[in-house]
Amino acid sequence: MLRLAHLLVSVTLLTPAAAFSQTRPIVLKTSLLLDGKGQTLTNTFILIEGSKIARIGGAAFSGAITYDLTGFTVTPGWIDTHAHLMWHFNNGRLAGKDEPPTQAILHAVDNAVLTLNAGFTAIQSPGSAEDKDLRDAIARDIIPGPRMLTSLEPLTEQSGPPEKLRELVRERKQQGADFVKLFASKSIREGGTQTMTDAQLQAACGEAKSLGLRTIVHAHSAESAKAATLAGCTSIEHGAYVTDEVFDLMARHGTYYDPNIGLVLQNYLENKEKFLGIGNYNEQGFAFMEKGKAIVLDTFKKALKHPDLKIIYGTDAVAGAHGRNAEEFIVRVRDGGQDPMAALVSATSLSAESLGLGNITGSIAPGMDADIIAFDGNPLQDVTAARRVLFVMKAGKVFVNRLQESSSHSAR
Ligand SMILES: [Zn+2]
Repeated sequence: MLRLAHLLVSVTLLTPAAAFSQTRPIVLKTSLLLDGKGQTLTNTFILIEGSKIARIGGAAFSGAITYDLTGFTVTPGWIDTHAHLMWHFNNGRLAGKDEPPTQAILHAVDNAVLTLNAGFTAIQSPGSAEDKDLRDAIARDIIPGPRMLTSLEPLTEQSGPPEKLRELVRERKQQGADFVKLFASKSIREGGTQTMTDAQLQAACGEAKSLGLRTIVHAHSAESAKAATLAGCTSIEHGAYVTDEVFDLMARHGTYYDPNIGLVLQNYLENKEKFLGIGNYNEQGFAFMEKGKAIVLDTFKKALKHPDLKIIYGTDAVAGAHGRNAEEFIVRVRDGGQDPMAALVSATSLSAESLGLGNITGSIAPGMDADIIAFDGNPLQDVTAARRVLFVMKAGKVFVNRLQESSSHSAR
């Protein structure tokens, strides 16, 4: 009885505040809004009710919690279609299988927080079995992190013959994978020669499609990218040696291209001593990475000449790279010559579409989830502004609010 009385008191005390915060709308007051689909809006309001964007513009709202984002650049939350949140350093070295699992998962949580704080409200991890628990924990909405999709354990040419691959694709779906990751070629250093046979690719991508799962394919050589495209796979990852002919084919088939030119190799080189001597991270490999940067940049420039090719935004972030996902944007625009608005659309609505999340996130429009960020500066005019994220909202909840810290704020 005493316990019941106590419970009743607690409920009475908690309910009004909880109900109030749930129903009270939020208004974001903006001066420069890039909607993620190529449109620019000036001096407008965004009304958010619960997790969703209810309205843009119109009359002023009373009784709403208001965040003044004027003077900043407001965009949808960015998306990284290729980020390995489980990868991390421990004691200054790349962590391996011998690490206690509690340490491993807490480092992965660090990476999730770093990624969200950098303005990335969704990521795709291709993938590891441990992703599932992290994805589900973030979805419980206590631990901060981006929306997360995972392939769980990837499949390779050694996973088995076509029939076995079909079985493994069904197994991944049962295990809770959001999509399937395939390795169809060797590494960039080994020339990216095709490893999975055409029949293996057709079996894996065909089976996945019949189950409603997307397939993303590690493929460096033109022949491996071509085979994956013809097998109906969803996206080509890396694609360092893809040719004009195969880019044309991908564009015709609507196959997404996910080049990773701005962060992964740079990050390896910057953190060389933390990787060197582990697995196949040797001096020869690091010597190649310098060359690799030029190779992937050249291929990216080639890809840009195919206007119908859908180039999405993935970084291949590994240990040391999490939270620096915007470096890809900087390199694409500054060194690759990509139109900054096209790069922004790639990092938002186009990547959302490629993940099957186009009706949920990646653009600022009524009915979309309120995944909204603000930059100090305009990344379309100054690429380095992409590093200065001051405000992060995911599904209507504010995770980062550093508006008072900005130089432009104090100048206003
Ligand atoms: Zn990767």
